Amino acid sequence: MPELPEVETVVRGLRSQLVGLTITRVEQRRPDLREKFPARFAGRLQGRRIDSVERRAKYILIGLADANLLVVHLGMTGQFVIGAKPNAIGPHDHVVITLDNDRVLRFNDVRRFGLMDIVPAAQLGSHKRFKGIGPEPLADGFGGAVLEAAFKGRKGPIKAALLDQRNLAGIGNIYASEALYRARISPKRRTGTVTRERAALLATSIREVLEKAVAAGGSSARDYVNADGEQGYFQTEWVVYDREGKPCPSCRAPIKRIVQSGRSTFYCSKCQR
Ligand SMILES: [Zn+2]
Repeated sequence: MPELPEVETVVRGLRSQLVGLTITRVEQRRPDLREKFPARFAGRLQGRRIDSVERRAKYILIGLADANLLVVHLGMTGQFVIGAKPNAIGPHDHVVITLDNDRVLRFNDVRRFGLMDIVPAAQLGSHKRFKGIGPEPLADGFGGAVLEAAFKGRKGPIKAALLDQRNLAGIGNIYASEALYRARISPKRRTGTVTRERAALLATSIREVLEKAVAAGGSSARDYVNADGEQGYFQTEWVVYDREGKPCPSCRAPIKRIVQSGRSTFYCSKCQR
């Protein structure tokens, strides 16, 4: 499943190719993905100019000139392909959007866990899909104070708190393990016992881990947006994730794997406290 950095890369790719163009035609090829398409989906997009492409958590927000947002979630296998008008539409191309530069944007989703919706931009904060989602770790102003506020009064291990989207938007399993390692915080540490200094270090670590992944994806953004590129995690060098038994780069102790809330956590029990 694409995580925040992958979605951010898709957003940047779409932004560079779509902003300023007008949607001339939308072909909706099935009634639903994970959920039904909204009523009159195609008609509400046709003729609209694309003004912006942004991200909120793992949702792509395509801003239209009529102050609506085309909201897209990639689900497990959703991807955009943009190019010249294709000779044939594939069986998994569920939405085909023609733009006024004669290029065609296809949404391809083999497993159909993706979704598309149209939401008034002004309702974004109060909309059921978005209300309650925590702060964006890549936003300006994110730092220790934001994390500290998000963690206040939370019980349970810090790893679970990081994965809880109400605390922080879009942190997935891999990046939680990597950020905790970088901040030298044990994934088992009770959330309420993370000091102010360590919350600040963790915030920095989260940003660094995510930005490194976005940077790694930046060069392959073309694969995500343009071509029949591989969908999946960026194969950046993870330091602890999926490295059970391999030496910790810092102390050489073997990396441990534990299961928390049904998800694997990788960490160094010597370096992380
Ligand atoms: Zn270590």
